[in-house]
Amino acid sequence: VRRPRLSVDQYVQGVLENNRTILAQAITLVESNSPVHMEVAQEVLGKLLPYTGKAIRVGITGVPGAGKSTFIEAFGTMLCERGHRVAVLAVDPSSPVTKGSILGDKTRMELLSRNPNAYIRPSAAGGTLGGVNRKTRETMLICEAAGFDVILVETVGVGQSETTVRSMVDFFLLLMLTGAGDELQGIKKGVIEIADALLINKADGENKDRALIARGEFNRVLHYLQPATTGWETKAHMCSSLTGEGIPEIWTVIERFRDEMSHSGVLQTRRQKQALDWMQSMTQDYLRSHFYSNPEVAKRLPEVEEAVAKGELSATSAVQQLVAIYEKSRDV
Ligand code: GDP
Repeated sequence: VRRPRLSVDQYVQGVLENNRTILAQAITLVESNSPVHMEVAQEVLGKLLPYTGKAIRVGITGVPGAGKSTFIEAFGTMLCERGHRVAVLAVDPSSPVTKGSILGDKTRMELLSRNPNAYIRPSAAGGTLGGVNRKTRETMLICEAAGFDVILVETVGVGQSETTVRSMVDFFLLLMLTGAGDELQGIKKGVIEIADALLINKADGENKDRALIARGEFNRVLHYLQPATTGWETKAHMCSSLTGEGIPEIWTVIERFRDEMSHSGVLQTRRQKQALDWMQSMTQDYLRSHFYSNPEVAKRLPEVEEAVAKGELSATSAVQQLVAIYEKSRDV
């Protein structure tokens, strides 16, 4: 693998100046899995870190067809018109079922992508959710350093992706649809509990009355649930991403969340906890992969596993043996 094209300072300078070419190159750098690139990427990130943290980070989820891209197009465009700078990122773990991108390769958010105040970054190419997770977090930091003050992180309700996005944002928005009485259909259990707002989309035309009823029902349910954020009451709202009705109101909700939660300190505590949780989970991933990729461990693992399966060896002894093998191999 070649050394990155630019020097650390060139990346840093370019990002801080919001040079779009260099911004894209810096993100490509943090998305790289090559050790050489990762080393440079971490140097760049280290220098950008003092310029990060000032954006409001909003996660957006919803089942396919809920209207996520249409909503982000309308919402992002409105924010840009108000002078905000909006970055849109996606967590799209390539699905083992579809064997490809779930958020889709269709041309999405055409209008917003042409807006000079917006930056849309397609999902980092693949692999594990852990890899996508790291890349999205670091991309978010780079975008903040480039001066974007609203970061939208979009995901679909597949696997663990909602929890992953929840763990990196301040505010989590769940886009919903009204259905024929089965409002909860298609929404995974537990997702409502991690949302800071429910937004019933497509509240237009004949659907508007149903949306009103659904909003009432959701608000009754929410009343009995533990809120996702201490001191914040999660509520249901409605909008139409086609007509734009309700779109300014949801931004008002998010601004109020930011103001109240910063004032109470809940937001700062959340971010600290997110950073520490993330560090711990990366440490665990690192140790796990080092352990299992150790040749001595890998060599002995099958027979030890077989012995445990047959009941000839206790699980505890098996672990002690493997750890001893691992540590011995590291001593030499
Ligand atoms: P995603 O899969 O969640 O990204 O959903 P899309 O944004 O691709 O929207 C799915 C379909 O719903 C598209 O045909 C949109 O035009 C339509 N749609 C999205 N938002 C609205 C809305 O507010 N009202 C109506 N009537 N249709 C909408």
